Amino acid sequence: MGIITIERKILEKNDEIAQQNRELFERNKIFVFNLVSSPGSGKTSILERTLEHLAGKIKVAVIEGDVQTDFDAQRVAKYNVPVVQIVTHGGCHLDAQLVQDALNKISLQNIQMLIIENVGNLVCPANYDLGEAMKVVIVSTTEGDDKPLKYPGMFLNASVLIINKIDLLPYVNCSPNQLKQNALQINPKLITFETSCTTKEGISEWCEWIVRQLHK
Ligand code: MG
Ligand code: ZN
Repeated sequence: MGIITIERKILEKNDEIAQQNRELFERNKIFVFNLVSSPGSGKTSILERTLEHLAGKIKVAVIEGDVQTDFDAQRVAKYNVPVVQIVTHGGCHLDAQLVQDALNKISLQNIQMLIIENVGNLVCPANYDLGEAMKVVIVSTTEGDDKPLKYPGMFLNASVLIINKIDLLPYVNCSPNQLKQNALQINPKLITFETSCTTKEGISEWCEWIVRQLHK
């Protein structure tokens, strides 16, 4: 069996389990999104600002994927939401089975939204369906504006692009318009937001949009 055959088999098995997760989410009326980005783009910070904004309005749970350490889960736990940590021990993506195992530790009847923070990586998380309703990709202004052209697979599979750290625009070589254009060239359906977790600019627009998806 060639390497490509093995990889296809792994992805087929993953898709099967992802479908089981998706049915479970639908039965429990839970809106699920999968947060993906390079390391350091601000997934956990966006998550924190989102939890802050939704507190008292929407019942949220979080699955935190990390290669090592539970630092991010500790940050999230401060917002008084159920959080399950998955440590991949070097693994560079979450898969549907890891998420399914984590779901056993969350009481699904009590939540309306599940946010999955994936491992920081723009390559393989694009190919692993977890059963989510959508992938939300974050790119920070410090990364420049050519990320979509370098990692087209992720932008093709995502529904939302968040351009984060816009407070740093005066100091970095990045045009948000160019970044958006590059992303839309790959996926014209992408919905885009511009945010700063420091000034909180754009956070309420993003949160209000995500709440509207819940009621669709
Ligand atoms: Mg993080
Ligand atoms: Zn991987």
